[in-house]
Amino acid sequence: MISSDSPIAWRMAQWNELVSNTKAQGLYLYLQEAQAIKGMHVTINGRDMLQFASYSYLDLLGHPKIDAAARAAIDQFSSGTHGVRILAGTIPLHNELEKTIADFKGTEDAMVFSSGFATNMATIAALVGRNDVVISDKLNHASIVDGCLMSRAKFVRAAHNDMDSLEKALAAVPDKKAKLVVADAVFSMDGDILDLPGVVDLCNKYEATLMIDEAHSVGVIGETGRGIEEYYGMKNVIDLKMGTLSKTIPSVGGYIAASAEMITFLKHTARAFIFSAALPPASAAAAKASFEVIMEEPERVKLLQRNVEHFINGLQARGFDTLNTQTPIVPIIAGSDERAWLMAKLSQEQDIFVLPVVSPAVPKNLARLRANVTAGHTIEEIDRAMNVFESAAKQVGVL
Ligand SMILES: *Cc1c(COP(=O)(O)O)cnc(C)c1O
Repeated sequence: MISSDSPIAWRMAQWNELVSNTKAQGLYLYLQEAQAIKGMHVTINGRDMLQFASYSYLDLLGHPKIDAAARAAIDQFSSGTHGVRILAGTIPLHNELEKTIADFKGTEDAMVFSSGFATNMATIAALVGRNDVVISDKLNHASIVDGCLMSRAKFVRAAHNDMDSLEKALAAVPDKKAKLVVADAVFSMDGDILDLPGVVDLCNKYEATLMIDEAHSVGVIGETGRGIEEYYGMKNVIDLKMGTLSKTIPSVGGYIAASAEMITFLKHTARAFIFSAALPPASAAAAKASFEVIMEEPERVKLLQRNVEHFINGLQARGFDTLNTQTPIVPIIAGSDERAWLMAKLSQEQDIFVLPVVSPAVPKNLARLRANVTAGHTIEEIDRAMNVFESAAKQVGVL
């Protein structure tokens, strides 16, 4: 039971009040249902809107080859698995997917988990423990933070993308302790890119293991969308390349690409791999086909990169602050939480589906619209959205 003076009851009441107050002001924009999705056009509340909140960076959701692969997998292996990978759950599609990922990422081997969140949690906790140190960029994703906490290693936060701060943290670790450095390749709220060459130099100097989260980097940066190593023209400088199968790849799941020795180790120690069900056949097949499509249709990466440039340049020309983004994650700074809520609402009224990110997810006074551009937008659609953002910003006093 939940007694009325329990802190659980108090927390529930507090959140319910916050949600109902926001709804009463007509400013609650979360959990809206999309009744239909066709590329970057979504039907929400019965209205056709242009999607600017999607992670489908290469517009692969609904690709005929990927959908066909998912259907064929259901016909052959049905809807679920018989449990965990290590026992009865492995089917050929899992091994084929892992080989495809390893080839795409240029590593000896790879393994898949049932979500990107679980991948980070389980991998970090398998790599380091009580006597070790894990150093994490301040803007890293929540799943990395939770993995660091769960590992029970000493958890050090380095200032964002700041090599002096990282070096101080590394230099302070006593000899003989395992050191793990974890960072996002592309930061999921600001859209800026990690200084990988700087991080790699420091990891080599201090003999630290390096794990990079490429959730927003695969399919997005680098000439052929291979991610952050390709972007910097580096090869196999990252010990563990983590990614998700739910953003550019229109499926679900997460992966680690690494040496064969690392993957064997993790397949027998990462708890979310050992104790959580295998990916459903349709999801594994869709993910595998998606990597193939990225390689077969390289023009998608080019289109995305053209759109990113057009969008960021256009917003800056209109006077917006977009921080240091160089990727399809584009923060449009509004200032206060209220301004961000209002700008999002005004934009949605003009049929541009975009969402606000407010504190505590981002610092107070850096509340923003978090707009995502994809390969599926036309230049005209990007221009239309920018005009809507501009008029909303003028109405609420951001511009
Ligand atoms: C989305 C995201 C994850 C989690 O991936 P899921 O597959 O959605 O669980 C992990 N890291 C980063 C940086 C992300 O943006």
